[in-house]
This record gives sequence, C-alpha cells and structure tokens, in this order.
Amino acid sequence: MTTAPTTLPDQKRIGMVSLGCPKALVDSERILTRLRADGYAFAEDYAGADVVLVNTCGFLDSAKEESLAAIGEAIAENGRVIVTGCMGEEADAIRAAHPQVLAITGAHQYEQVVEAVHTHAPPSQGPFVDLIPQPDIKLTPRHYSYLKISEGCNHSCAFCIIPQLRGKLASRRIDAVLREAEKLVAAGTKELLVISQDTSAYGVDIRHESRSWKGRDVRAHMTDLARELGQLRTPEGETPWVRLHYVYPYPHVDQVIPLMAEGLLTPYLDIPFQHASPKVLKLMKRPANEAKVLERLKAWRAICPDIAIRSSFVVGFPGETEADFQYLIDWLEEAQLDRVGAFRFEPVAGAAANALPDPVPEAVKEERYARIMEVTERISAAKLAAKVGRTLPVIIDDVGDPDEDGDIGATGRSQADAPEIDGAVYLRNVPETLAPGDIVQAAIEDADAHDLFGVIA
Ligand code: SF4
Repeated sequence: MTTAPTTLPDQKRIGMVSLGCPKALVDSERILTRLRADGYAFAEDYAGADVVLVNTCGFLDSAKEESLAAIGEAIAENGRVIVTGCMGEEADAIRAAHPQVLAITGAHQYEQVVEAVHTHAPPSQGPFVDLIPQPDIKLTPRHYSYLKISEGCNHSCAFCIIPQLRGKLASRRIDAVLREAEKLVAAGTKELLVISQDTSAYGVDIRHESRSWKGRDVRAHMTDLARELGQLRTPEGETPWVRLHYVYPYPHVDQVIPLMAEGLLTPYLDIPFQHASPKVLKLMKRPANEAKVLERLKAWRAICPDIAIRSSFVVGFPGETEADFQYLIDWLEEAQLDRVGAFRFEPVAGAAANALPDPVPEAVKEERYARIMEVTERISAAKLAAKVGRTLPVIIDDVGDPDEDGDIGATGRSQADAPEIDGAVYLRNVPETLAPGDIVQAAIEDADAHDLFGVIA
C-alpha cells in the first residue's frame, strides 16, 4: 500500500496498490495527484480505505498472475476494489477471477479511474480541500523521479503486446515535459529518469513540433529534450543527473553522447537490444537493428569513456539456433556492456511470436540463460574491478543506523547505476549528517560482480 498523510476530517480515503514498471508508477502518481485535487485523502492500510485502487501490470503471464493475486488480496482485506492499468484491458479475465471488483479501467485512462472513484466513493467537498496547494504526489523517493515523455509505441515487436495495451506513440508536448522536469528539480529531485516505450522516437507522432521554452524554440525531439534537460540546475546550483531509458540506437542518438562528455547528461544509456543475431532480430521485428552498433559503441566510448551501457536480452526466442545464440555471446564479448538483464523467452497471450515455428525447448532456454548470465557477470565483474581505486560521484539512496561500533553505512549508486535495475555502491563510515539525495565523491575500495564498495573521499 502507498500512502500520503493528511489531517483533514471527513475526507474519503483511497488505498493504492501499484504494480509493474516505472511507467505504471508514473500513472499511479498522476491518478493520486488528481484524486487529491478532488479532495481525497490516502489510507495507510486496507482497513482505512473507502476504496482500494489496484494499478495492474498485464505484460507477462506471470505479471497477470501477480495482478490477480493483488486484486484478490485487496478484496479479501477491504472488499471495495477498482482495477486500472495494463491488465484492465482484460476485464473478462479479471471479472472471471474476481466478480466483486467495482470497476475496471485500462492503462492511462485517468479520467475513467477518477470517475469510477467518484462513483464508488463520492468525495466529501470540505470547504478547505480545494484551497490547499500541494505538490504532485510521488511514489518514488523525492531525490529521483521518473519523467514520462510519451505513451504507446509505433513498433510491432513480435514478443510484445504493449502497442495493443497502450496504443500508438503519443508524445507529450516538449514544453509540458520540460516544465514538469523543472518543477521536479525545484522540489528536490536530483536525478531524472526519462522513460517511454521508445525514447528515441519521441515527437515522431507530433512531427517534432516546436514550442517556445525560455525564449527558445525547442522541438519535441530526443536531442532537444536532452540538451534542455542538461540546462536544469538544482536549487543548490548543481546539474541534476539525467538518465535516458529505452533508447533505440537510431542515428541521432550519436548527438547526445557529447552532452554526456560535457557532464550535462548522465553518461548512461539504456538500450534494449534484446538480441544481436540479425536473423533473430528480424524474427523479433525489432526496430533499429544491430548493423554497425559495435562500431558506434566504440565511437561513443571514444567521446565519453565513462559511458555505461545497459541492455536487456531475450534468450530462447522461437527459431533461435545454437549458432544464433553463439552469435549473441560473441557479440556480447565484443560489446562489453556494463549492465545486462537477461530473460528466457516467455509467450505472452496475444503476441505474434506465439505463432512462430521452432520453439526452443525449456531445457535449452535454461542452458542458454545460464551461459549468458555467466558471460555478462564476468564482463560486469571485470568492469567494476577496473573502478577500484577511482573516485566516483555517488548519489545516496539510504543511510543506515549506527552499528555496535557506532559506524554508519549508506547505500548509493554511481552514475552507471539506475535505481531498481542496476547495482549499488555500499559506503562505510559515513557521517550521520548524510541524507538520501546527497551526492558525494566516493573512493572505491572493492567490487564484486554487481556492486561497488567504498568510503567517502
Ligand atoms: S519497441 Fe517493441 S518491445 Fe518496445 S514497446 Fe514497442 S513493440 Fe513493445
């Protein structure tokens, strides 16, 4: 359950269970912000809620099961449940499992969710409620924020049903995105995580329309967005960290690398390659295929040696032969990516890939998964070992309590680590004045396959 405090009497209280990816988290934040503007308060537990919202994920079958279980728990604990999010597109399946749900709405149908809440828990319009200006609700820690620049996707990757769930690409206006980013940074955000389904395609649907921002014409385009985000400063005058996620390697990505070298953008790119074999990429119908990517990685590293590249890969896609898989392994040895997530192919109901011939047997998938993990962990360990002895900026996420000797430890992340998905930097002997969101210089003393260990320099 997610909570936000309130002290006003007689307000209807909403409980929120938010599942799924960062994009769903942003949706939850928007829904809660609107509900609060309508005079609702938020419950700390199921029992205190007039109605519980469950924001679901319906991407993989395992996520659907998790969503159905969360709905079941909310019904058992509270009884009055409204479902929203990606799995909301499968209302029949939800009603079959949980006929008691009050209402079901789909992904980013903010109006409908709010309407359903109004119907099932009409707001009590106290005289003060509407007069209290409050910042947007955030479910992520205050020092980092997700910045969603578009919804949906124009591609049709064979393993993915996002376009069915979320529709075609719909980009936000550039000035609206920049205003939100500016507000977040003014309110204490030290790290912005730019998210979408395809960040490189930002603005394609609105023909990269220009808007005036700070007296300049700025296009709805990833490079303009990156340049403008690089101009933001925190109230302390520091450049916030800005991380680009879900970037496909279209040619214009080259233009943001110099911004990283100048320190205006965090030297980090999350590029979901998913495979390297041209044959498998074609079967997957992936945008921006692998040709020349290795050369470009080299060129990017020549411009910005500290750039960290994160990616994810699917093994055991239908039709993937041993030769295709070995191609991927050889490619990874060459690419030397910093962070890699690997997944075994899992059919998703409604995805085109399910009809492809030559499924890979489960045992072979497992064996390939073990091999890719072994290779990528070895590369990661070597890359992290090379950081021992260096001093790196680290953003603090959490400060612990003193141990029996009075030493305090803290957990943070380097610029190569996005929250939730990458590694951590563990610091020992930190001062008790250290707080989440502080950015310190850390001397790195040790490393393992995923994390770094050090002390404030
Ligand atoms: S780019 Fe492909 S994987 Fe990503 S959301 Fe679009 S269709 Fe799905």
